[in-house]
Amino acid sequence: MNIVVLVKIVPDIEKVTFNVENGTVNRASAPQEINPFDLNALEEAVKIKEEAGGRVTVVCMGPPEAKEALKDALARGADRAVLLSDKKLAGSDTLATSYTLSCAIKKLGEFDLILCGEKTTDGDTGQVGAETAEHLGIPHAYYVSRLSIEGKNAVVHSEMENRLLVMEFPLPMLVSVTKDINAPRLPSLKSKLASRKKEVEVWSAADLGADESRLGFPGSPTMVYKVTFPTEEGRKGLIFKDITEGIKAIAQILS
Ligand SMILES: Cc1cc2nc3c(=O)[nH]c(=O)nc-3n(C[C@H](O)[C@H](O)[C@H](O)COP(=O)(O)OP(=O)(O)OC[C@H]3O[C@@H](n4cnc5c(N)ncnc54)[C@H](O)[C@@H]3O)c2cc1C
Repeated sequence: MNIVVLVKIVPDIEKVTFNVENGTVNRASAPQEINPFDLNALEEAVKIKEEAGGRVTVVCMGPPEAKEALKDALARGADRAVLLSDKKLAGSDTLATSYTLSCAIKKLGEFDLILCGEKTTDGDTGQVGAETAEHLGIPHAYYVSRLSIEGKNAVVHSEMENRLLVMEFPLPMLVSVTKDINAPRLPSLKSKLASRKKEVEVWSAADLGADESRLGFPGSPTMVYKVTFPTEEGRKGLIFKDITEGIKAIAQILS
């Protein structure tokens, strides 16, 4: 099985700060890490490789600093890591991102399966996987919590709006996974040390053989009209000096 895993590097969401004035993320305020949902995609790929043999390649579009985080993907069992990094890719919306990823996947050659996370913790659109599959002209399944490879087909359990869909697709296909699919293992010290010797390949826009008008800002039709932040409301406590009044108020709320 030749498996490609799409991995985005995101700021640690627990630590990152925002510039409320201009509506931007202050990326330097937090360490970069693999998008948590993509760890599930990678774990699933490594599990399939362990059972059926094959190769796992992670593909990431991001800034040069993403290289360090991709070493983590190598330590977690990926055989190859490719970082798509170029000033020409900056400002990509989901359409340009998915087009760029699809060009890289075509350049990698034949594949059986593409795995991605259901969404990212920063952009959070959940669009990139499906759009990538559309660019490649292959089927895709979303919100997959169980995946099994049966011969030349994949059987997926997809959970949508309180319904469980069990579907079978011919390979190659793209599968977008939820956190329920597995529990990603932690890399061992040995695999961390081994990953340091592995190279993260960096591809530029020119390496992709892409139509450059479809990359980065020029290829991104999304217009950001306004960015707002939800206001944080603190808890409002009520203090009752009379216990009977307090019990009455609680009973009222509960009813
Ligand atoms: C309205 C709007 C305007 C935006 N404007 C800008 C802008 O001007 N400049 C800018 O830089 N960004 C901008 N972005 C962010 C940019 O669109 C996203 O960061 C990017 O397209 C990925 O989308 P996402 O994070 O929502 O991924 P999702 O669709 O939530 O991701 C789903 C899965 O796709 C894969 N994936 C997603 N992104 C990547 C990646 N880069 N590499 C590899 N795999 C990936 C991962 O497996 C991920 O789990 C904007 C986003 C929105 C919604």
